[in-house]
Amino acid sequence: MDVIETIEATRNAVAAARATGRRIGLVPTMGALHAGHEALIDRCRAENDLVVVSIFVNPTQFGPDEDLNKYPRPLGADLDDCRKHGVDLVFHPAVEEMYARGAVTRIHVAHLADQLCGRHRPSHFDGVCTVVAKLLNIIQPDRAYFGEKDFQQLAVIRRMVDDLDMPVQIVGCPTVREEDGLAISSRNAYLTPQQRRDATVIHKAMRQVAERVAQGERNMRALAAAARIRIEEGGADAIDYVTIVDPLTLEETLELVPQARICVAAHFGGARLIDNVPLDAGGRPD
Ligand code: AMP
Repeated sequence: MDVIETIEATRNAVAAARATGRRIGLVPTMGALHAGHEALIDRCRAENDLVVVSIFVNPTQFGPDEDLNKYPRPLGADLDDCRKHGVDLVFHPAVEEMYARGAVTRIHVAHLADQLCGRHRPSHFDGVCTVVAKLLNIIQPDRAYFGEKDFQQLAVIRRMVDDLDMPVQIVGCPTVREEDGLAISSRNAYLTPQQRRDATVIHKAMRQVAERVAQGERNMRALAAAARIRIEEGGADAIDYVTIVDPLTLEETLELVPQARICVAAHFGGARLIDNVPLDAGGRPD
């Protein structure tokens, strides 16, 4: 496995693989790898010849009061994990390598990036889109893999790739959960044991909504309100949103549109957790 820190050397390594006709897959991450990332890497391994994982804690997607400095960076363990999962190349640039002095360009996916998390983290998706566009330009993969856990991120990236005619297939992968339903996240490491237990209420509340939809309940606003109360009472310190959205616009929907999702962002202690499940007409609780 190659571990490369410069853009130029990464381009050269990938170009050599491409020249021999190998299909290239990319899994962008911020490191602190866990079973969620591993699922993306395994899928990428199964579907491509050259597997590239990027590990980069991207400063432009963090707000001024967010956790950029304390975000976990266990590089040694991450590289071991990548080796175990058959990764060919890890791209691990320094901030100065990714953002040359004077870089000012930002990509804004209007409307989609302004909903849900965008209301609470105003420049977050501009940072995400800019770094993902850069990674796609540097590596030029055939396919890039993203988790449904970050449902808005996936929607925003799909839109960007479509709008800018980027020649890559975006592959969305299902959310990997702990046994008790909590979505696995690098930020779960911030939770105390009590907060960790409390945080399971997010998935429980969302599942309850999916079950009530499956039973025929159609008052979306009442369902979201009930889930919000359950999460509040379950120990959340603050809730940014509990909203049932149209998956195409990410706007609140008052009807059960196909693939409607309930999306949650809630704070437990120092951890801001996000999660979502589909509310299919047939009721397919995640
Ligand atoms: P991150 O390192 O948090 O930026 O995540 C890198 C990629 O892994 C993103 O596409 C995430 O959506 C995805 N991911 C993170 N957690 C999970 C999870 N529990 N299940 C599936 N994908 C995940």
